[in-house]
Amino acid sequence: MELVSAYLRASAPRTYCDACLAFAVQEAVEAVHQAAEGLTEQEQFARKTGRCRTCRSTKRLVTRAAPTTLACKGSVGLAPTLIR
Ligand SMILES: [Zn+2]
Repeated sequence: MELVSAYLRASAPRTYCDACLAFAVQEAVEAVHQAAEGLTEQEQFARKTGRCRTCRSTKRLVTRAAPTTLACKGSVGLAPTLIR
């Protein structure tokens, strides 16, 4: 889901649980959960256990992981090493 990844990029390096993320982007929790699980496959986001910044409960969180990918925005699908 574009909205989820865009929100996480904009608020990096903050961490959010699925429920707070869903509230922030105003989508269904289930949809956001699936989007968040899918994001980790891109290796740009890390999914780990920690404390949510918003509701302060310890949960499985999704967070922005690789700051270097910011420079490659618009070049999704290309490895950073291929861009000179
Ligand atoms: Zn939360």
